[in-house]
Amino acid sequence: MISSPSGAGKTTIAKKLTYNKKNIKLSVSLTTRKPRKGEIDGVDYRFVSIEFFKKKIKQKAFLEHAKVFGNFYGTLKENIDEKIKKGKSILLDIDWQGARQVRKKMANDTLSIFIVPPSLKELEKRLKKREGSVDFIKKRMSKAKQEIMHWHEYDYAVVNANLNDCLKKIKNILQIHNHIPQRQFISKY
Ligand code: 5GP
Repeated sequence: MISSPSGAGKTTIAKKLTYNKKNIKLSVSLTTRKPRKGEIDGVDYRFVSIEFFKKKIKQKAFLEHAKVFGNFYGTLKENIDEKIKKGKSILLDIDWQGARQVRKKMANDTLSIFIVPPSLKELEKRLKKREGSVDFIKKRMSKAKQEIMHWHEYDYAVVNANLNDCLKKIKNILQIHNHIPQRQFISKY
């Protein structure tokens, strides 16, 4: 699982870690938020209605779910089970609330990494590049501070000052875990 405040580079990292990899797959979450420009349904997220999401909660279909920035996000159990049965590892790009739920359910089968921005100033700069609205940036910065407070719940914290360095460090972490007998879940990374 990887988490970070929005704008710390987590989505790019998640995609780079799983691109063309046979043994580690990126989980596609369900969300009730509207697609952003360029996002594809079924690839970036499965974009669903609030009614549909709530129905899935009632059916206990989620491994974890949470409300983030007023929208629902969740990981379906069936997506995970299906990949585990095929011997794959799964990368979850989820927030701290979701990571906490997954850890509770399958502690020994998880590895969690928190990606930290080099500074709050740098995070704000990155967000400004991506999103225009001042109000939106203010909201995300306040949420970022809350999210960062949970970094110590993770197995590892990696600073993303430079994307390639950060990726290298994460790959090293994954490789190290292949040598721990009980935690070889990231097979042949
Ligand atoms: P965004 O809307 O910017 O893509 O994502 C907002 C936040 O929701 C990010 O922190 C992202 O990691 C988190 N998120 C995305 N999918 C899930 C999910 O399935 N479960 C949880 N708990 N958080 C998610």
